[in-house]
Amino acid sequence: MKKLCGIALIALFLLSGCENVNNTEYSSTFFAMNTFAEVTAYGNDAEAACSEIQDSVAEMERLWSVTDENSEIFELNHGKRSKVSPMTANIVSFALEQARKTGGALDPTIYPVLAAWGFTTDENRVPSAEEISELLKLVGYEKVAVSGNEITLEEGMMLDLGAVAKGYATARAAEILSKHGVKSALVNFGGNVLAYGSKPDGSDWKIGVKDPADDGIVGILSISDKTAVTSGKYKRFFTAPDGTVYGHIIDPKTGYPADNDLLSATIIASDGALCDAMSTAIFVMGKNSAEGFWRAVGGFDMILITKDGEIIITEGIEKDFRLTGDLRLSVIR
Ligand code: AMP
Ligand code: MG
Repeated sequence: MKKLCGIALIALFLLSGCENVNNTEYSSTFFAMNTFAEVTAYGNDAEAACSEIQDSVAEMERLWSVTDENSEIFELNHGKRSKVSPMTANIVSFALEQARKTGGALDPTIYPVLAAWGFTTDENRVPSAEEISELLKLVGYEKVAVSGNEITLEEGMMLDLGAVAKGYATARAAEILSKHGVKSALVNFGGNVLAYGSKPDGSDWKIGVKDPADDGIVGILSISDKTAVTSGKYKRFFTAPDGTVYGHIIDPKTGYPADNDLLSATIIASDGALCDAMSTAIFVMGKNSAEGFWRAVGGFDMILITKDGEIIITEGIEKDFRLTGDLRLSVIR
């Protein structure tokens, strides 16, 4: 499997590693949940905030890893527990709610199919159509029962929080920054970018939206107090012997990697967890369904980049997005 180092959203800001630049700015970088995280915060308590954010992400990874045999999700997936911590029950409930909302485009029970494609072990393969249709019988968010901190899965069903965990972590990072009195911070968690407050000089944070077909960026997003999250197959994929490229986002209706008219979907909203859930779901939906969903349900802005070189943005970010490349831009209202 190939993982690209370039991340989907690039904070246009120089990060200085783990050092105190002065009393008010503190930056740290660390690796967790299979991705790099960069945090820069301003305030007297910035260092403590950065360190608490790192601890909170480490805790989430400990609870939700699908491969760590001691994680709550691993134990749940292997019939070794049903009672989980409040935070795990909370994210599972959130993921199931988003699954209902998106008609199953996002489905946290996709794990058996995802595992068959090898996306969890780096040993990619193309499963047979029969294998996929058998495994799809184990997929279905509506079959998961949650009662308080008790989660019941049907025999063989397994959960994967990969589509929502990083966004949940950035939402928690915002709470930690607030608790420490930080007014201004930028958190980039593997392409989940939290622009907390505005820049110390009062202007918006500038976020580069990566060109999914190339190395550069397609435009710059100016945001404050919002999170932006991108999903796309270019972030993690493998090439089969026949040359077909398969991405890590599965369409739960078919059991095959989503392959539609979209190259990437970026979601912008106040709630980082919602952004992450929606970015995966919107990527699965494809352009037309995504536009229909945005009109019918909404609650977020989006930037869709299509295979035929179009970039579609929603009206809420029209003034905040500046095109830098030569894609055709259209705005939906
Ligand atoms: P993201 O990068 O947020 O779009 O999340 C992609 C990750 O979510 C994948 O690497 C899988 O772990 C998981 N995943 C893939 N397809 C789906 C899906 N349709 N619903 C929920 N999770 C998915
Ligand atoms: Mg996601």
